[in-house]
This record gives sequence, structure tokens and C-alpha cells, in this order.
Amino acid sequence: MTVSEVLKGIGIVAGTAIGKIKVLSEDLSRHLHHYSVEAPVREVEKFLVALNQATEQVEKIIENANKHGEDKQAGIMEAHLAMLGDPMLKEAVLQKIKDSMSAPQAVLEVTQEYAAEFAAIDDQYLLERSADVLDIGRRIAKILLDVRGVELGSEPIILFARDIEPSVLTDISSEVVTGLILEHGSTTSHAVIIAKAKGIITVVGVPGSLKLLDGIQVALDGTSGEVVLSPDKAELGLYLARIREERERYVRDLANASLPAVTVDGKRVQLAVNISTPQDMEQALMFGCDGVGLYRTEFLFMGRNNFPTEEEQFQAYREVAEKCGENLCVIRTLDIGGDKPLSYLDIDQESNPFLGWRAIRISLERTDLFVTQLKAILRAGVYGNVALMLPMVISSGEIRRAKECLGQAMSELEHEDKDFARSVPLGIMVETPAAAVIAPHLAKECDFFSIGTNDLVQYTLAVDRGNQKVRKLYNYFHPAVLRLIDGVISAAHDQGIWAGMCGEMAGDPLAAILLVGMGIDELSMNATAMPKVRELIRGIDVLLAKDLLQQVLSLDDGVEIREYLVKALKN
Ligand code: PEP
Ligand code: MG
Repeated sequence: MTVSEVLKGIGIVAGTAIGKIKVLSEDLSRHLHHYSVEAPVREVEKFLVALNQATEQVEKIIENANKHGEDKQAGIMEAHLAMLGDPMLKEAVLQKIKDSMSAPQAVLEVTQEYAAEFAAIDDQYLLERSADVLDIGRRIAKILLDVRGVELGSEPIILFARDIEPSVLTDISSEVVTGLILEHGSTTSHAVIIAKAKGIITVVGVPGSLKLLDGIQVALDGTSGEVVLSPDKAELGLYLARIREERERYVRDLANASLPAVTVDGKRVQLAVNISTPQDMEQALMFGCDGVGLYRTEFLFMGRNNFPTEEEQFQAYREVAEKCGENLCVIRTLDIGGDKPLSYLDIDQESNPFLGWRAIRISLERTDLFVTQLKAILRAGVYGNVALMLPMVISSGEIRRAKECLGQAMSELEHEDKDFARSVPLGIMVETPAAAVIAPHLAKECDFFSIGTNDLVQYTLAVDRGNQKVRKLYNYFHPAVLRLIDGVISAAHDQGIWAGMCGEMAGDPLAAILLVGMGIDELSMNATAMPKVRELIRGIDVLLAKDLLQQVLSLDDGVEIREYLVKALKN
């Protein structure tokens, strides 16, 4: 039992970490106070030199990230590079210096003004970009003030900050920084995306500024979101034992990676992986996957200033298709909009972006973009076993219109004399209640379903998937969601097509047992979730899973259902 004080946040990257806190101070005021201001011409000169140095630093980080295949980091830093080259920002700083402000003060003020403008718009994406612009402001100011980066020793530490600049994390290794605690930060912020990619155990939403002081030892639980302050000997022992277990488990998982996900009575479930970039395949293959169940292609379009060409897309899709070998590689067409806007695609300000112009709706209006993407996917089909998947479908008409675009893509490729796969399976994401309810109709128009619970849950329960305030209501064990999923799988099988799942629910072993009972054919998840789901499937029996499903479907409360499953699995 824990006796030390515990702070509670939201676990984002699972696992255990122990270390001393290092507080990332945001306060440059002490340095500003000691800065000696010179004449405006000199301040202008110093600013221009610092701007150049900041640009070089960012270019180096990008080069390094590219070398290590760290695509997401590179993308974020590309956005910083674009901001550093923004002539309006530069002009605004020069104006302030000419009005007799010091160079570092001017940079900080201008970038804070930009950030405030972004933050004032009620938009999660722009809110996160405001952190980016503050980040570049501080980078330039630190050069001017001669403030060095975070001093990290060789001992593992846990960083604590109100929020963190993505570029600070880009330079950090998970061997030195084993944990990250943020007071703010959301699941989609760039810093969190980088922490996830680096495997740094992360907890956000921790109100700890008065307690998490430099040098204090903490134990961090990235699953429960608990931060134990100054753990005593017994508690430390427990957490150290957990870390040892996690390491042993990792080694065991790798050893079991080639085992198929087959139930005790012989039902094979395809265990596929969700990826965002071709580089994600490395980890996926290490954990043993039966192909890709969801390739989120929109990440290829993000963190840049223009649309990727057909050739660029083709190269990325081909790489993944080849890495899948004989296995299926399901490439989802662009799912932009909602919480994933594109700066260079003109999307009007929407009051409900998740209910607005997103995904297939954009593709069917911007058919120029859609056909280009389809051509790249069809060409990649020559190098592997590729399937196409449409996001956010609500009607049969959308699938039919997508097929017309597919026809156009094929005839253009024919004309251009390019090699392409002539028969590529076409599936849809079932992620709206509309699609789930009319699944028997939609099944006639396509070759497979993949259930996207991340959106299906938010639309069915009217609970925003990104809003921490209503997080407790977001529950895929809600009986309304379970019934929809059950109906979708049956509709697929009645029509003779397969049904998979690629929402986060697929990677939860508790859910997997119910899904096996419903007859799911494929589960697609993050690579790190595969070992536990594989182990569960190999230990169950379909009859038992069906029985459990019947018991669960008689309950009428999602929280109760989860508790019931936890108990049943323990037994
Ligand atoms: C989903 O909605 O479940 C899904 C997998 O798509 P995304 O998370 O990319 O919206
Ligand atoms: Mg979705």
C-alpha cells in the first residue's frame, strides 16, 4: 500500500519510471534583467545573428531526426523552421527593436503575441501551435541571453514542466529522461507525440508545481497516472520490481512475437498494426504483426507546407506494402479535418470540426487530391498485398462515388502507362453510428469493415474524444457501443466479408475477449499493445468468450461491464 503522498494525473505512455525530478524552468526574466541593451542598430544585428543560429540549430535537429527515422520529430521541427523564416514575424521583431526594445525582449513579446492570437481561437490544433511559436521565441531569446539548454547528467531523471517545448524533447534520450510529468499537455500535443515515439513514460494533467521540486525522488506510473512523491524503501522496492518485470516481459514478448493469435479451440484472429509512417514498421515487425490494419496516411501530409506529390506518396506506400510481405496492408485514404487540420488546405473555421468537413467528405469534393492519392496506392499495390480503406463513411453513395474516383485513377494510370494493381480490396471504417446502423447495406458495397471505435464512441455517446472534462464518460464498454459493434460484425459476416477493428479498443485485452466472442476477424493496434492481446487470445476459448459476451450484454452500464470483465478475467 502506498503511504507517501500521491499526485494523480492522466497516464499517457504506460510503464513505470523512478527518478529525481528536474524542473524545466520557463523563467527567462532573471537573464533578461542582466542583459545589457545596446543601440537599436546593434540589437538588430544581434537579433539577425541569433535568428540564423536558431535556424541552423533547427536544421541540425531535423537532419538528426531524419537520420534516425524519427519522422514525427522531423515534421514538427520543419514547422518550426517555417516559422523561423516567416517574414512577418521577423518584421514585427525589428519594429519593436527600432522602438528601443532589447532584442530578446522583442522576440519574446512578438512570439507571445502570436501565441496568444492562436490560443484565443477555440481550436485544439492552433492551441498546440501556440506552444510551437513560443518555443521558437525562447530558442532565439536563449541564444541572445546566452542561456544553455537543459543540463542533464548521466543519472536517469524525470522532467517536470507546465508544458514542454517539443524541441526540448527532440534532443533528449529516453535513457536519461525516463519519465515526463506535465501540468498541462493533452494527448495530441506535439510534445506528447514525441514522448510516445521515444517511449518516455508520461503523465499529464498533474497539478504539481508546489510539490514537484528539483531533486525530489518520484515513482511514476504511466498507466494509472500516479506520481508517488519521495517513495519510502518499501514502495521503492515495489516500483523497482515492476520495472524489472516490465523489462523481463519485454524480452518475453519479443520471443513470442512469431506465435499466431489462435484461440485454444483453433480460431485465428489476424493481429495487425496501426501505423502513421513507414518507420513505424520496424517496431511492428519486432512485435510480430499479421500486416497493417490501419495506415493513417494523413501524417504524410502534416508538418509540411504543400501536398505530397503522387510520387512521394507512392514511395511511402510502397515501402510499407513491401515490408508487409504476403500480409495485407490496409491504407486508409486521407482523414484530415476534425483535430487534424492541414495548414495549407483551406478549411473554413468550423464550430464543430468533428462534425464538419473531414475525411471522405473532403476527398469527394477535392477529387484532384483524392485521385492522386488513389493512384499512388494503386501503384504501391504492385509491390505487396494492398487494400484501400475509406474513413468517416455514412452512406452507400459515398462508397459508390469513391469507386468512380478509383475508376478515374485507373484510367489515368493506364494512360500514363504506369504499373498498378488492378484489383485492390476496398473497405470502409465503420466509425459513425450511421454506418453501424446501416452496415447490412454498406456491406454490399465493399470488401471489408474496420471498426473505428475512437470516433464511433465519441459520436455514439456524444462525448468529445479529446476533452479531458468528459473523459470518464468516454467508455467503449457502454452497452450502446457494444451492441453497435456486435451488429456490424454480424452484418459483415452475413454478407460474406470480414470485419476488423482498428480503434484503441482493439488493443485492450479486456475488450479483445468480447470481440472474439462476437466473431471479430482482425484486431489492429499499436505495436506495443500486441503482446498482451496475443497472449489473451492464445489462452481463451471461443465458446467461453461467447458465454461471457452474453452475460455482459445483459448488463446495462458500461462501468459495471468493465468491472465484470476485470473480475471474469482474473478468474
Ligand atoms: C478511429 O476512429 O477509431 C480510428 C482508428 O481513426 P482515428 O483515430 O484516426 O480517427
Ligand atoms: Mg477515426
